[in-house]
Amino acid sequence: MASMVADGLRQGKDFLGPGLPERKDRMTADSFNAVEIDLAALRENYANIQAVAGAGVRVMAVVKADAYGHGMVAAARSLWEAGARTFGVAEIEEGIALRQAGVGGEIVILLGILPAAAPEIVRHDLTPVLFDLETVAELSRRAVAAQKEVDVHLKVDVGMGRLGIAPEQAVVFASAIAGLPGLRLAGLLSHLPMADQPEAAAATAGQLALFNRVLAQVAALAPADRFVHIANSAGLLYHPASRFNMVRAGISLYGCYPDGAAVPVAGRPVLRPVMRFVSRVLQVKELPAGAGISYGHTFVTSRPTRLAVLPVGYDDGYLRRLSNRAVVLIRGQRMPICGRVCMNACMADITDLPDAATVKPGDEVVLMGCQGDEEIDADQVAAWLETISYEVLCLFGNRNRRIYRN
Ligand SMILES: *Cc1c(COP(=O)(O)O)cnc(C)c1O
Repeated sequence: MASMVADGLRQGKDFLGPGLPERKDRMTADSFNAVEIDLAALRENYANIQAVAGAGVRVMAVVKADAYGHGMVAAARSLWEAGARTFGVAEIEEGIALRQAGVGGEIVILLGILPAAAPEIVRHDLTPVLFDLETVAELSRRAVAAQKEVDVHLKVDVGMGRLGIAPEQAVVFASAIAGLPGLRLAGLLSHLPMADQPEAAAATAGQLALFNRVLAQVAALAPADRFVHIANSAGLLYHPASRFNMVRAGISLYGCYPDGAAVPVAGRPVLRPVMRFVSRVLQVKELPAGAGISYGHTFVTSRPTRLAVLPVGYDDGYLRRLSNRAVVLIRGQRMPICGRVCMNACMADITDLPDAATVKPGDEVVLMGCQGDEEIDADQVAAWLETISYEVLCLFGNRNRRIYRN
C-alpha cells in the first residue's frame, strides 16, 4: 500500500517532497491545487493528546500512509520537535524511509514483517509487531549474527479479527521470544474494533478485560519496562482504561475526532485540523437561465448564473460523488458545486456571492479547511463522500502537492 502511494506520487504532478520549503518563485508554474499542512497545528495536537494521555503514558505518533496524507517525513520531524519519540508506520519500507531521513527514536512496524525482512529490521533498528513463530526465529538468528538486540512487540487479537495471535497462544509466543537470544519483548499490544462507538462500550470493556487477562499470564515473561498498548485515538479519548502506558494516536494528531463528532465534549482535547485543500478560480462566466452545466447536464440553471470554473476534479481526489453535493469557500462564503465533477475540473455557482462580480481568475478557493469565518472540515467532506475523515485526508493529501507552513 505504501508503495502504491509512492507510485501515485511519482506519477502525479509536481510533487514538492516532504520537508521542502515552499517555493514562491515556482507558484506560476505549479499545479493550481495544493494541500497546505500547518505543522504548528500538528505539534499543538500532539501536546494536547499527550496531556490527555497523562505524563506516564508514551504517545506513539502514527505516521503511516504518508502521515494520513500529510507527508510522513515532514510530519515525523515536526512531531519529534513536539516531543514524540515513538512512531508507528504500516510497512517496513516506511520505517526505513524514516531512518534514512534521520528520524531517531523507536519506529514500530504495525503490520509486522515476513521472515525475509528480518535483516532489514536489524540493520535499521526497527521494532516489528510479531504474530508468527517463523518470523520470531529468523529475527533472533539475524539479530545474533549482527550482535544486536532487537526490540519486538507481540500482538494479540482480542476481538478485532485482524492481525495477532489468539489469546491462548500468548504464553507460548512470549516464552519463545523470551527464550531466544537477540530479542527483547519490548511491547505487548492489541487493537480495539469499536472504541469509537458509544453503543459498543460493553464490547470494548470485554476486549479490555480479555487483554488484561493475557497481560497477567505473560507478565513474568516481559521486562518491567515493556510497553502495553491497545488504544487508538478512540480508545485514548473515550476509554481511559485502555491507555495502559502507551497509546497509538493517528487521526487525532491530524485534528479529527475519531467518531466524527463536530461538537466538542467535556474532557476532549482541542484538536485543530492540520490540512487545508485549496484551489483557484480558473474562469468566471455568466450564463442565462436554462443552461446545462457539465457532463450529462445534471444541473440546469434556473436563473441568470455566475459560474466559477475550478481546475480540480476526481484526478485530484475531488471525487465525482461530490457532484451537486459539495460546497466550496470563495471569499469566505459557502458556494455550491453544480453539475458533475470532471477529471480535472468542476463548477461552483457563485451567483449568490455578494461581490460575485469582483471574483476573478486566480482567486483562492478552499475545498477543505478555513477561509474567513467559514470552515469545511474533513468530517463534512466525508459525509458528502459517504466515508470517514481518515479516507478524505489520505485521498486529498496523497494526490496533491503539499505546502508546509509553520
Ligand atoms: C492506524 C492505526 C492506529 C491509529 O488509529 P487512529 O484511529 O487513527 O488513531 C492505531 N493502531 C493501529 C494498529 C493502526 O494500524
